[in-house]
Amino acid sequence: MQILVIEDNEANRYLVTFLLEKHGYAVAAADGAAGIALAVEIRPALILLDIQLPGMDGYEVARLLRQQSELVRTPIVAITSYAMAGDRERILAAGCDGYIEKPIDPDTFVRDVARHLDVSRTGGRGAP
Ligand code: MN
Repeated sequence: MQILVIEDNEANRYLVTFLLEKHGYAVAAADGAAGIALAVEIRPALILLDIQLPGMDGYEVARLLRQQSELVRTPIVAITSYAMAGDRERILAAGCDGYIEKPIDPDTFVRDVARHLDVSRTGGRGAP
C-alpha cells in the first residue's frame, strides 16, 4: 500500500517515511505542489499533506488534489503545527479528511494513518 507524503521539511519527510516504511507501507514523497501531478500518476492509498509549504500552501494543494477526478476518494490527511481555533474547519473545508499534529509522535503516528485508511476502506466519507 502506497502513501504519498507532500512535505517540504526534509527532517519531517525523513521521519514520516521511516515510520511508515518500518510498518510495511511504500512511501513516495514530494516537497510541494509537484505532489499533485505525482498523486495523479501513482494514485496513492492516502496522502499526507503538510500545510506549511513554500509558494502554494497546503490548503490550496488540498483543493487542487480534490479537483483531480482520480483523487476524489483518496484520503488526504493534513500535517499541521497550527493549533489555533478554526484551523480544523479550514483544513476540512479545503478537502482534507482529518489532520495529524506536528511534532509527529512516533508512538501514535502510524496508528493515526492506519485509522484514516480504515475509514476510507469502510466508506467513511459521506457513506450511508
Ligand atoms: Mn512545511
